[in-house]
Amino acid sequence: MAFINEHYLKLQAGYLFPEISRRVKEFTESNPVAAARLIRCGIGDVTEPLPPACTEALHAAVDEMADRETFKGYGPEHGYDFLREAISENDFQSRGVNVTADEIFVSDGAKCDTANILDILGHQNRIAITDPVYPVYLDTNVMAGHTDTADDAGQYGGIIYLPCTAENNFVPATPDEKADIIYLCYPNNPTGATATREQLAGWVAYAKENNTLILFDAAYEAFIQDAEVPHSIYEIAGARECAIEFRSFSKNAGFTGTRCAFTVIPKELTGTDTEGNAHSLHSLWSRRTATKFNGASYPIQKAAAAVYSDAGKTQVQELVTHYMGNAKILREATIAAGLEVFGGTNAPYIWLKTPNAAPSWNIFDRVLNEAAVVITPGAGFGNAGEGYFRISAFNSRANAEEVAERIGAMAW
Ligand SMILES: *Cc1c(COP(=O)(O)O)cnc(C)c1O
Repeated sequence: MAFINEHYLKLQAGYLFPEISRRVKEFTESNPVAAARLIRCGIGDVTEPLPPACTEALHAAVDEMADRETFKGYGPEHGYDFLREAISENDFQSRGVNVTADEIFVSDGAKCDTANILDILGHQNRIAITDPVYPVYLDTNVMAGHTDTADDAGQYGGIIYLPCTAENNFVPATPDEKADIIYLCYPNNPTGATATREQLAGWVAYAKENNTLILFDAAYEAFIQDAEVPHSIYEIAGARECAIEFRSFSKNAGFTGTRCAFTVIPKELTGTDTEGNAHSLHSLWSRRTATKFNGASYPIQKAAAAVYSDAGKTQVQELVTHYMGNAKILREATIAAGLEVFGGTNAPYIWLKTPNAAPSWNIFDRVLNEAAVVITPGAGFGNAGEGYFRISAFNSRANAEEVAERIGAMAW
């Protein structure tokens, strides 16, 4: 028998979404009537169809694949130039941010990119994560053997946890100790919080002082409504020397089932070997990608490029407006119900304090049983998420209105 990667055995059982599924299944099987009116506001998945500009481009690309004259085989591992150039121009240069097309690596998802990036980084790095956190950042470090086993409270030895609570507006202060890598995600999943320019500048200053690599997840940047909130870490001077940015078409253009994303690695960004010599992370990632990936599919990249067409931009804006309209409805209803509410103004997630500091799984059970609505308990995202719960605004308008009414009617 082959030996296994024993670090996987450190991963905690009862992972968030399977546990939610288990409880929902139990509920629907014992309450068939209530099950019929169940509304899911749990998992962060989009509900609305792809923008027509994207599906048109997808159909046209499929037709190209059907003709020997226009058929495409393997594409460039780093993505087609038509897409990398559209991204550079529309997401960065047009905002005055210097990111060139050859610094963009197109992939089939930001989840895999945020996970795979560890391939090019050393095992001796001290890792800092926010708490609560998108579980991928933490679990991939556990799998790679960068942590000890979890303690009784579920925290892994070797990780620097940075609690994000209402007290710090869900943006942690830079730690006193040195981290080699810090994962930041703004607008944030799950808290819906954004980081200000000053806060990000503080992190860039910390990173430069401590030679820290910032892994910046901007999957939700399209939902920013406030003109002052940065869309990219590269809007901060100096970030090109200390940060990698992850983006995705999943949330803005509804590509969760279509799969396209990209990672930005500036040319001047370096990491160090044990002798202290600097090496280009762009070169390492380029090599890693060429070796382990054969590129995102051509039709999908054509569909992603259509996001930047005039029609695509309008249609993506409509999707964002739709979801942010839901967020507003959910925010207002929960505020009116007397709950303490965060997020939902620059992100499609509402983050709420549990009343009387009730455990978040209790609130999950109550909302499920009393309103037939699935929310996400904050504890599932980390210890500092306890005492909070998340409502997703990814839904139809009718469902968002119904959820607002049902949660509003509960005896909080
Ligand atoms: C949804 C999400 C992503 C996007 O992942 P994909 O693999 O591109 O679908 C990335 N980061 C966070 C925090 C997310 O919530």
